[in-house]
Order: sequence, then structure tokens, then C-alpha cells
Amino acid sequence: MIRSSVDEDLLSICTCAACDQDPELAGAIRRAVGSGAESVEEALGDLAGPVLAGRRAATRRMLDAVADAAGGARLTVHAGLDRWGTGSFTTFGPGPLPVDALILSDPAAGALDAEAVAALASGSGAAVGAYVQAMPPQDPDGLAERWQALARAGITEFVIYHGGLLSAAAAAALAAVRG
Ligand SMILES: [Zn+2]
Repeated sequence: MIRSSVDEDLLSICTCAACDQDPELAGAIRRAVGSGAESVEEALGDLAGPVLAGRRAATRRMLDAVADAAGGARLTVHAGLDRWGTGSFTTFGPGPLPVDALILSDPAAGALDAEAVAALASGSGAAVGAYVQAMPPQDPDGLAERWQALARAGITEFVIYHGGLLSAAAAAALAAVRG
């Protein structure tokens, strides 16, 4: 069965005891999956706000625990922009966050303008960086322009996949963005 992205977001919501969500939630998710709802908010109705707040509280507890364990070490985490996003670029609640840098995926970072990057940096209290692909199918000749556009938008850190196989064009793009 092909599921929609809303279904995927719904199915990513954890209802385990540790996540301490509303006992009605699992049933609401079961009813909503496959319903054709256009958003998670539409699918969950009145439960959406509390579920989001619960998820943000859980990710914040995790970040706080990591920050405690890290002591004074610099802390950089992958982050996303989709409020219901999960996975390796998951989304954290509004800041301030106990991290030094948030690294967005390349497409997410590319969709941001300078105002949005500045708002994210000031809201989180963290530098905003981007995880960028330098490998095919990226066109190596387009990398310099793309990365400089990200830098102009306020992206201050670049995590490049992957440095060991940079082409000469990608290395030149890197040199250009480092200015
Ligand atoms: Zn859970």
C-alpha cells in the first residue's frame, strides 16, 4: 500500500510509555492513516497540539541529556525544519537549544532565505549549517554557485559529503565558499 507523507508522519509518532502521550493517540493515528488527511493537524484534530508539545519536550530532554554528557565539548546536531519531521534530520522545538550548531540537510537549507536563517539562528541560539552533497548526481560545476548562495543566506558551516572524493571542481567550490 502506498502511503502519503502525512501517513508517514503519523506512523512516526511514538506512543510508548516513555513518550507519555495521550492514551487516545494510538487510536486516533490508526483511524487517520489512509484517511487522505492533508496534514497531521487535520488528521489528529485537537490532539495535534499536545502531541507536538510532547514530542518537543521529549527531544529537548534528549538534547539536555546529550549536552550534560558532552560537558563543555562543542555540540553540533542534524536538524530539520518540518515540525513533524523525524529521522536523522529531526526537528527540535523552538529554542534556545543547548547546542552550538544545527546542521540542515542540503535541500532544507537551500529552501531558506537569509531572513529565515537569521530567525532560526536567533531562535535556537545556534549557528546554522548545511550538510551538502558534492557527489554525483550533483553537477560539480554548479557547486560553487550553490554553496555561495547558502553562505549568502547565512549558512556558516558546511558538512560536505564527502571530502575524500571531492572532484577538482568541488574542491574549487569549497575554496570559493571559504573565501
Ligand atoms: Zn516512545
